[in-house]
Amino acid sequence: MAYVCAHCGKKVKDLNNFIRCPYCGSRVFLKGRPNIPREVSTD
Ligand SMILES: [Zn+2]
Repeated sequence: MAYVCAHCGKKVKDLNNFIRCPYCGSRVFLKGRPNIPREVSTD
């Protein structure tokens, strides 16, 4: 199961011991999201 950084939206695979985004350093993640959540307006 992949994690998605809640800050920069990067996919982070296999967080072993450190829970930290290697891209932005954020420690907030979304679990098991197939897509990056975005504000999408539908018709
Ligand atoms: Zn990040």
